[in-house]
Formats: sequence, structure tokens, C-alpha cells
Amino acid sequence: MIKNPVPWPNGAKCAAAITFDMDADSILHLHHPKTSITRISAMSMLRYGPEVAVPRIVETYKKFDIRQMFYIPAWCIENYPAAIETILQGGHEIGHHGYIHEDPNRLSRDEEAYWLGRSIEVIEKATGQRPRGWRAPLYNFSKHSADLLIEEGFLYDASLMGDDVPYVLRTAQGEIIELPSHWGMDDWPPFVHSMDLNYEMQIRAPSQGLQTFREEFDAMWDYGGLWVTVWHPFATGRLARWRQVEKMIEYMMDKGDVWFARMEDIAAHVRACIDDGSYTPRIDNLPYYTGPVYPIEDAGK
Ligand SMILES: [Zn+2]
Repeated sequence: MIKNPVPWPNGAKCAAAITFDMDADSILHLHHPKTSITRISAMSMLRYGPEVAVPRIVETYKKFDIRQMFYIPAWCIENYPAAIETILQGGHEIGHHGYIHEDPNRLSRDEEAYWLGRSIEVIEKATGQRPRGWRAPLYNFSKHSADLLIEEGFLYDASLMGDDVPYVLRTAQGEIIELPSHWGMDDWPPFVHSMDLNYEMQIRAPSQGLQTFREEFDAMWDYGGLWVTVWHPFATGRLARWRQVEKMIEYMMDKGDVWFARMEDIAAHVRACIDDGSYTPRIDNLPYYTGPVYPIEDAGK
């Protein structure tokens, strides 16, 4: 099923990373720059992430003795220092997730480079080291993103969906490891409903929503893949859902031979396996296209 499964450490069947994007209220200011501050209810829903969910999540990781991953917009790092402190004390990785969840596909190359660099400085100040990984806000990886990440020395990207196992993005600038996930591993479809964010879904029961992620895990375990959640503290960190997550982690651990790891550790392992020849990744050459593809003029207008 997977042509090139990764030789995971200690013979593990798969690698598992619970990654959270701690967006807090950055996305509300992005959607409603003029009126966000009056949308108190939506604000409270989003602030639940850093204020209530993050301490709960980190406590669970402590109980299971695992270290995991948070992608955080730099603006949130500046505005929620207590949550950042809690995450760092637990030994978890903090990755780059834009400045205030801005969309790289709406920025020029220079603007994207500016906000990337400015946010690196914030992360370095808060954590003592530069970020190793980046996840594009809302998967909005632009045609400049790979080059900019390579220029800034990032080890890996975690925004794309092109495989079940790590692969390599190659551009004229060089290479970067891709640790892929996909919308089926995202908690917005099952758990988020917000008129303020123009995202209205039928919310699923906690056990039902988590079932998707459990089945994804079982497949990765069977075939040697990489299981990466794209969760959000305000959504999956809510009480009834997080209780189900604890049950799911127990299930995963009982199954055994699972490598729970931070994304930077997974990327470093993959890099080492590529370098010593024990893993041959698939390579995606970027850009996929250098100009418009659709041949019919005025179509789609
Ligand atoms: Zn996000």
C-alpha cells in the first residue's frame, strides 16, 4: 500500500504526532479587522484554547510522558505568554504559523518574506531557538513559500498533503522535508461551527469525531505511515472531546510500536535516513507549473 515506508526508530510501525495549531483569536482579527473586538462571544470561544485547553493538553502529555507539537502565530506568542510558558515547560516544540494567521497567497514575495522573518524573531526570543518547522496558515502555502523556508534554513514544512509518508520538496533554492497531513486529520470539519468565522458545520459527537482519527491511525500503523493531526486547542481541547483523545492515546499505546514524537524529531530522523541511504523519499519538484494551465480564454468568468 505504501511503496516506501520509513524505517521508524526501534522498529516502530508508524510515527504519530499530535500537532495543534494554537491560533487563538488571531483568525477573528484576520476575518474581521474592523469589528473583531466587538465579537466577544467568538473571542471567548477562541481564547478557550490558550486559557483552558492548552494547560489541559500539556497535562495529558505529561501523564503519558510524550512530547508533541504546537504551531503558533507569533502574535499569539506575544499575547498569550502563560500558554507559551506551559508548552515550553512540557518540552514541546513550537513551530512557525505566520504572524497573525495572514494568508501567504494574498501577500507579495517581499511581504511574505517580511512576516516570515519577523515571526522567526518572535519565536527565537520566546523559545531561545529558531523554529525548525512551519505550517502555512489555513494550508495557504504560496508559490514562494518553499524558497523562503529554504532561505531561512527551516528543516521541514508541515502544510501539504501530497503523501502518506514524509517526502521532499525541491526548488531551485534547494530542498526541504515535507511532513504531510490532510483535511481528514483536521478537527475543523467535525468540531467547529462559528457564524463569525463563516464556517458552519454539523458538529459531531466527540467519540464519532475522534473515530476518524483512530481509523487514520490504524491505517498508518498497518502500513508504516506518518500520522499527523491538525487540531486546534479551542476545538479538540474542549472537555468531552479531550476525554476521548485520552482514550485514543491509551488505545494507540496499548497497540504498541508507535513512535510518538515532535515534528522536529521526525524530520531529523527522516533527514538522517535520507543521508545514510536507508530511506528514499519521493521528490516533488516545485513549482508544479510556471504559468496558467487552463487553455480556454475567458472560461469560468
Ligand atoms: Zn491556524
